[in-house]
This record gives sequence, C-alpha cells and structure tokens, in this order.
Amino acid sequence: MGNHTPMIKQYLKIKSENEDAFLFFRLGDFYELFFDDALKAAKELEITLTQRDGGKEEKIPMCGVPYHSAENYISMLINKGYKVAICEQVEDPQTSKGVVKREVVQVVTPGTIMEDNMLAEDENNFITSITEHEDSYIISYTDLSTGECFVSKISTFKDVLSELYNRPVKEIVLSSEFPEEHKQSLQAYLNVTISSQDDSHIPEDFYYLVNQLNDPMLTEAFGRLFQYIYHSQKRFLTHLQQVEYVPVEQFMKLDLYSKRNLELMESIRDKSQKGTLLSVLDQTSTAMGARRLKKWLDRPLLSKDAIERRHEQVQTLIDYFFERGELKEHLKNVYDLERLAGRVSYGNVNARDLIQLKKSLSAVPHLKDILNQFDSELITQLLGDINVYRDMHDVLEKSIHDEPPISITEGDIIKDGYDGKLDEYREASRNGKAWVAQLEATEREKTGIRSLKVGFNKVFGYYIEVTKANLSQIDTERYERKQTLANAERFITPELKEKERLILEAKDKSVALEYELFVEIREQMKQYIPLLQKLAEQISEIDVLVSFANVSEQFNYVKPSLNEEHSLSIQEGRHPVVEQVMQEEFVPNSFEMSDETSILLITGPNMAGKSTYMRQLGLMAIMAQIGCFVPATSAQLPVFDQIFTRIGAADDLVSGQSTFMVEMLEAQHAVSHATEDSLILFDEIGRGTSTYDGMALAQSIVEHLHDQVGAKTLFATHYHELTSLDDTLENLENVHVEVDEQAGEVVFLHTIKPGKADKSYGVHVAKLADLPDEIIDRANYLLQTFESTQSIKDEFVKEQQLTLFEEQTEAPPATREVEVAKELRDTNLMNLTPMDAMNKLYELQKKL
Ligand code: ADP
Repeated sequence: MGNHTPMIKQYLKIKSENEDAFLFFRLGDFYELFFDDALKAAKELEITLTQRDGGKEEKIPMCGVPYHSAENYISMLINKGYKVAICEQVEDPQTSKGVVKREVVQVVTPGTIMEDNMLAEDENNFITSITEHEDSYIISYTDLSTGECFVSKISTFKDVLSELYNRPVKEIVLSSEFPEEHKQSLQAYLNVTISSQDDSHIPEDFYYLVNQLNDPMLTEAFGRLFQYIYHSQKRFLTHLQQVEYVPVEQFMKLDLYSKRNLELMESIRDKSQKGTLLSVLDQTSTAMGARRLKKWLDRPLLSKDAIERRHEQVQTLIDYFFERGELKEHLKNVYDLERLAGRVSYGNVNARDLIQLKKSLSAVPHLKDILNQFDSELITQLLGDINVYRDMHDVLEKSIHDEPPISITEGDIIKDGYDGKLDEYREASRNGKAWVAQLEATEREKTGIRSLKVGFNKVFGYYIEVTKANLSQIDTERYERKQTLANAERFITPELKEKERLILEAKDKSVALEYELFVEIREQMKQYIPLLQKLAEQISEIDVLVSFANVSEQFNYVKPSLNEEHSLSIQEGRHPVVEQVMQEEFVPNSFEMSDETSILLITGPNMAGKSTYMRQLGLMAIMAQIGCFVPATSAQLPVFDQIFTRIGAADDLVSGQSTFMVEMLEAQHAVSHATEDSLILFDEIGRGTSTYDGMALAQSIVEHLHDQVGAKTLFATHYHELTSLDDTLENLENVHVEVDEQAGEVVFLHTIKPGKADKSYGVHVAKLADLPDEIIDRANYLLQTFESTQSIKDEFVKEQQLTLFEEQTEAPPATREVEVAKELRDTNLMNLTPMDAMNKLYELQKKL
C-alpha cells in the first residue's frame, strides 16, 4: 500500500474484507469502482473506464455510477450472478477531519435481494446452504423476500442436484471445506452464485426460528445461512418464518432427468416456460398463487388422502361455475402479501405499498363470503377466521391517503383526522395560505393599483408584484424590494414575511410529523406479519385450486381415481401440452396395464408418437398427484412414488458427457432406485451404440426391470427383435403405434394398438423429410437385403433369451454359424448338380 493516498488505503482495506463483491465506494454523488473491479464493471455495465491518481506513479483504473441511478446498475450485476458491497460515507464530510469514514452498509447478493424491481414476481428467490454429513446432506432454504424457511435431509449428492434442479435457487452458501468437485457440479448444473461462510452458529436473534428442530445437524445448516444473511444485510429481519422441516420422502421423487425430460417448468430447447406443463396449468391470478403452483409441481404428493382432497376441492370449484368466476375476480385485487410482509419487516415499504396491503385486505371479506356459498367444508375452510384482518385494514384505512406519493419524506401521506397535532399544523398552513389569498384584494384596495398581484416562487417565496408604471403608488415604508423584472418589481411586506414563515414552518413540521407517523404505522404493521403470511398461504392455495378447476374445465380434463393396486387404465388420454400446440387434431390414446403387467414394450416407426405417448403418462401421473384433473375421458392410476425417464437425445452439455453415457447414467439411476411403485419411461435405450451392443443392453435392461424391479415401465424401442420377449417375460406386453401405408407413402395414425409393429418405416420418414430420391432408392434396396438376413438376428435374440433360462445343450449360434460357413467354403460347387446344390443348401440352412 506504501504511498497510496489515504483514501485509496481506506478503499483497499474495505475491499480486502469484501473480496468476492464489486465494491461500490461512495464519493460524493457517485459510487466509484477501482482497480480490477473497475476493469470488470466497465465491461459488464458498458460504462466509461477512466483513471485516477492514487499516490503512486501508476494511475488507478476507475469507473463510477451516479448514486441516484445506482439501483439499475446493481441489478444488472446481480442478474449476472455477481455481488455488490455498498460502501457509504458514514460521517458528514463537512465536519470530518481527514478522510471521511466509510463503511459497507449492505452487501447485495443474488440470494438476498429485497428490491421489488430486481425480483421476478412469480418466482421465489431462494438462498440455500448445503452441509455434508457422513451419510446425508442437509439443504436449508430461505427466501428473504417472502420469509419462508425450510430444510430437508437428502441422502446422496446426486439427489441434492435433483432436489435443487428447476428450483429458483439463486445463491448457495457453503463452508470452505465443501468438496471442490461438488461445488463445480452445483455451479454447472444450477447456474448459481456460490458463497462461502464458515461460521455456522445460529446468531442469537435467530434462535426462535429453529428451536423446534431438535436436531443439531439441521440447526447448523441454518446457522451458516443466517450468519451469512446477517453479515450481508447488516440488519435483523423479523419476517423470517419458523423453519419447517420438509421430509422429501413424503413427496413424489423426480430426478433431474425427469424434471428436464418431461419439461415441467422449463423447456429443453430454450429453457423458457413455453411448451411446459406449467404454462398449461398456470391460470393463477396472483403472484403468490403462481409461486405456489411451482412448488406443487415440484413436489407432487404421495398421500392418497391428501391428493383426493385436492381433487374433491377442484371438482367442487368446477361445479360452482358462477362462484368460481367471482373468486377469480376478487383474487385479482389481492397483491403480493408475502412480499409486502417481507418489505414491512425489511423497512422498505412506502405508503403505496401500504395501500396495496389495504386493498388486498379489503378483498378478504368478499372472498370469505363467496367461499361460504359453497356447500362443502373443504372449500369454506380454505380461509380461516378473517376478523383479525379487520383491525389491520382499519388502521390503514384511517391513516393513509388512498393515492399517496412514492416518497415517504415529502408529506401528503397521512389522512386528516388521524393525528391532532398534524391537523393543527395543516390548519396553520391552510390559514396562512387563505390569508395570502386575501392579501391581493386588500393591497389592491390600499394602493389603488388594480394590476397588483400576489405570487409565490421557490427562490423568493411569497411576493407582491407591481408593474413599473404603478410604482409611484406604493407605500415605500411597507414595501421592501426583492426582485426586479423587465417591466415590474416584486416586493414583500413584514406581515407577508411573517405569514410566510408560519406557513413554511407549519409545512416543515407537518412533513416531519407525517414521516414519524408513517414509520410508526409501519412498525405497527410488523406485529401482523405472521398473520399476513398465513393469509398469503391460504389465498395462494385458493388461487391454485381455482386455476386447476379452470384449466380442467376449459381443456376437458377428468377427475382421476387413484387405486392401491398396481393397475392403470386410462381411456382416451392426451398429451396436455402437445394437444394445445398442434395444428391438427391430437389423437387420443388409452393405457391399459393390469396388476400383472409391468412392462409395455412399444414399437413403431420414428415419428409415430412413441415418446409423446410415454411423456403423456408421466405428465398425467404428475398432474393427478398435484391435485389437478387429467386429459382423458377416464383415468384410474396408482400413486407413483417416483418417475424415471430416459427420453429424447439430449446430450448432457453441462458435464460434457456423450448421449450414450447420459443414456446409461439415466438407466443406471432408474434401475438402482426404482421400486414396484415407480413409473419408468425409457425411450430407445441402447440407440447410442452399435446395433448388437445396443440391443443386448436394451434386452438385459428390460429383463432386469421385469424380474427385479417390477415398476410400471413403458419401454419404446426400434429393435423389433425385442418384441419376441413376450414369449418369455410373463409381465411384458407388446403394443405398437399404428401406421398406414398408402401407395408407398406412410401415414402416421398415432394410435396405439396391442401387439408388435412389423416393419421399420425409417426410410419413409426420410422420404417425408425430402432426402434426395437417390438416397431413398438406395436405402430401400439395402433394406430389402437386410430384411432377408433378419432371421439371423431373430435367432440371436431367441438364443440370448434361451441361455438365460435353460442349460446350454448345443453349440452357441455363433459357433454353428462358423461351422456352416466352413462347410460351405469346403464344398466344391463345380462338382454338384443343381439338385445336389439345392439339397446341400437345405441341409446347411437346417443347421442354423
Ligand atoms: P417417436 O417418439 O415415435 O419418434 P414422437 O412422439 O416424437 O414420435 O412424435 C412425433 C410427432 O408426432 C410429434 O411431434 C407430434 O406432433 C406427433 N404426434 C405424436 N403423438 C400424436 C398424437 N397422439 N396425435 C397427433 N399427433 C401426434
């Protein structure tokens, strides 16, 4: 540091305590950035890089942003995953000696933002912490904007990734000892900011949030998180809710692959919400409802009772068409109560926020009235006792103007009649103004100048204006000249000055008092925070259920019935997303799997609709288990504990693994974790490698699933040879997608039929795709040649099966083929008559 200027020394010291953040260093009206921060920020924010003398020969790189527009720049950096430490001058530069004292007053990080314009309305903003233990991981979550806190125990790191995938986690706080490779995976898969915090003691102020957990492991996870929040926010937050333990085993488990492949909330193609199940189901009216729907989608239920309860509620809401419409109308008047509560606690609500709060509260009695019209406790109970909200509403109704300004320091917030003292000041100010208004008439009379005017400007205050022509008529004793204009002069009188003083004083006092009163009301609101959070929860639940009812009615969904056996029967099922984006009619398909059937082996040409059919079932199971109805004419399903998928050819770009490796990893995951209550959707397993390799793997996976797992499995394959497995695997059934062939052209009917497909239509699909005729003709020719050797492949599969079940008594096929080939080579064809040759061939063929 040597000969740096004292200010730069101060900067360097503060920067060394905030290494991982951009340091916004307040210098007068600007926040300045220096050194590497400046170089990086100039690029990221596209602002001009300059330099400054810092006491050394070399100049220091510098860039800056005006303090009044800093929020935009901060939000740009936060959106890119960076952190910003805001360093303010904490003493008055006029009175301080030497370098002004500066301190970091807040570190803004992606996981701790509270500013409305930086948060996505319909999404949570979680900051989490993960701690590693001998046989488990603990994940703790907080959303500072809503106050939610919860914690889960997860068994493996892979499950940690699945758990966090798709969840709006913006920042993860880890101990510096957390394994480096895991850190990298988290960053790669989840695109989050990683922060470090080694202290994991619960700050005393936060004790009350965790004291019911009774498990030091869980408490520790929050210790780290709270320490981090405490150090970055530098204030105590009262809106955080008691930590809830969420037992993940009570929800359907969806691994990372299934969440991705089924496109629940994010499309594979462009990671947007378009084309996802969420986009179909979300007709919520409030931001709280939109967030709750995502939570439900992320955690389908396992309890049959709980699911059926939601189905019942949706059914009732469907039946009460008119009341449901009314509910929706009133829900639209409810603002984001959770985040309003958060800001009340954080201390950054303004008067407009409180008006939003009031309006939301006034919607509550209407909602309650409508709910009471339903003849069903399941619905009427959705809102509990609402009397408590009246007090809160009344305080706001009495105190805050209906259309207050954004600023809370310039008055015009508090209603007349709320506070006696404020009324007095206002009265004084009003009286003064009335006196001034009267003055014009009085002075005109006194002076006889008809054009005399009384006015006000910000620089000189009140004045009396007289044109130059009339100057001779004024009383120079009383009139004191203030300002000269081109053809008029402005004056003040001692009485006017005195009144002006009183008016301005009253104004100043009333503005100051209004601020005080506002802060008081805001503080008073803090006691209601838990109530508001409860209300938010109830309203968001109503919102999602109404959304389910609307969607179910609009798209002709049916209430599924859940069974406790392992059977499934769906009539005329549809894919909820595809049916909406298709130009043509979507062809409905049924699913029939009895208790005994565990595997449906699906064959059919590419593009026939195999994976659509499979995804359809996965999505229907999830829809049913979050409480929604399903796209079918009737549906009977078991409750699935987990869904595993291997669908589509998405390379794992993140980890750089090949398609085949991903395929095998996904298969491995399913095979080792599925139970007989699970659903497995496997599309074209084995495609990524050579034919025999792939076929052998596909077959052995089918056999394993059949014999060892017993999960309900849909297995699509283009290895037609596998269809003969139904001879030996008792619980396997063949189905195929029907295709019509007319005059050499393929027509996809998209209907699923029992039995196996008999032909591969790949070449026809290629033709549809307009590949050159030359290629198509050649492929057709080759196809015929291959088909003539099909019998060899069939034999291969059969033998593979046989060897599993029977003792091998004869030479394996490969050996026999070699023998036949040898015999053929040794035969002297020239010595044979045509008849002998025929007989020889017959004999050789029989050996195969
Ligand atoms: P596969 O997995 O057999 O290659 P896909 O399931 O990807 O085939 O379906 C190919 C296309 O066929 C889809 O993009 C969709 O447009 C259409 N399709 C699939 N199933 C149906 C259906 N039941 N009704 C109408 N069109 C369908």
